[in-house]
Amino acid sequence: MSNFIIGLTGGIASGKSEVSRRFEALGIVVADADVAAREVVAPGSPALAAIAAHFGRDILHPDGSLDRARLRQIVFACDESRRSLEAITHPAIRARLREQCESAQSPYAIAAIPLLTEAGGRAHYPWLARILVVDAPESLQHARVMQRDDIDAELAQRMIAAQASREARLALADDVIVNDGQPDHLQAHVEQLDLRYRELAATHPRSAAPL
Ligand code: ADP
Repeated sequence: MSNFIIGLTGGIASGKSEVSRRFEALGIVVADADVAAREVVAPGSPALAAIAAHFGRDILHPDGSLDRARLRQIVFACDESRRSLEAITHPAIRARLREQCESAQSPYAIAAIPLLTEAGGRAHYPWLARILVVDAPESLQHARVMQRDDIDAELAQRMIAAQASREARLALADDVIVNDGQPDHLQAHVEQLDLRYRELAATHPRSAAPL
């Protein structure tokens, strides 16, 4: 059981996946919101039933799974639909992340939530003991996302602009990893934070053994 849970966030191509991988290599369980978002709408799930009730059964493939492409089209075109979808999925995603982290067999656990700032921040995630922001200058995010996703400069810019600002993300941070250097620096910083989190987890009141 791990009650000491770190929220990990950062803008697109800031290096969240790189950071997650490094914590995992140190034995830390990382629950990923993007994975949870797919799991909570699996066939037979309450969230999928609620989506079909709200958007109509046309939103399902003949085999009963979610037609993501169709749903994406609907919510991109209409803010109200997007809010309705989020009202169904977000609580389910939060619950799943929390459950995965709390059942983790590591001294602490990480919930990787790319859109933490956009999705209500700390108010919606009161169970996060700390928030770790991976930060990179926008010019570097831009170059990395173009290369990683093989997209043009304009689309990369739009993707960055669609997210919360760097300042808004940093305002949530208890800890910051500035990922603007060499992978070696990143590794050293992750190792430093891991030691600190292990210490904090050991003395975290809620991680005490139950009576
Ligand atoms: P995110 O998960 O935040 O979207 P990634 O971890 O996928 O970002 O990183 C984006 C891209 O930048 C990837 O191709 C990754 O390998 C590269 N990258 C991340 N950090 C560094 C670094 N310190 N040095 C070089 N390349 C990096």
